[in-house]
Amino acid sequence: MLRDFIAKSNYIVFFGGAGVSTESGIPDFRSVDGLYNQQWKYPPEVMISHSFFESQTEEFFDFYGAKLLHLDAQPNKAHLALAALEKAGKLKAVITQNIDGLHQKAGSENVLELHGSVWRNYCLNCGVTYSVDVVANAAGVPLCECAGIIRPDIVLYEEMLDDDVMIKAIEHISRADMLIIGGTSLGVYPAAGLLQHFGGENLVLINKTATHMDKAADLIIRENIGDALGCFI
Ligand code: ZN
Repeated sequence: MLRDFIAKSNYIVFFGGAGVSTESGIPDFRSVDGLYNQQWKYPPEVMISHSFFESQTEEFFDFYGAKLLHLDAQPNKAHLALAALEKAGKLKAVITQNIDGLHQKAGSENVLELHGSVWRNYCLNCGVTYSVDVVANAAGVPLCECAGIIRPDIVLYEEMLDDDVMIKAIEHISRADMLIIGGTSLGVYPAAGLLQHFGGENLVLINKTATHMDKAADLIIRENIGDALGCFI
């Protein structure tokens, strides 16, 4: 049925969350796995908030380096299938809540990163950009030559999303004849608001657990997203 939907669609948009990358070995940093309970003083939502970054910068980077930087991770079947569908002219945009850059590693070109990317980094003082290696290899807080703090271009809790990215995401969702949502429980802002703009034919949900969009879906697939999409590579 997924194959039929894809065959008759010409403007597919994919909207994905943390579940897309778990098969690449990147755990959802929000998941309460007990690890951070032992190791960290605060929940993840606190440790990657703007105010925590400002007030406890060193601890922010400790957590960031340990839990959010996964530079050796490789794209999985889901990333590769989406890249293949884009090359085939079927898929027009990937909208992701992930910050790991794996869609681009897989070859996707039109990727809208709602929460930014760990691969882009810049000095808060002078604006010069830095490669992720500088941040990954820094002992403590990564500093620019001008002594400013280098921060990742990701959206922290308490921060606004990028307007341009949001506008483009809405445009693509509005134009889509098929929307595939995968690897997200849709609980994270701004997912729910964005998806209201979809007016196309087929809505497909690929998620292991139920979401509040299930009732609206034309097809629900309760599988690993890599298994569900792998046949399109
Ligand atoms: Zn600087």
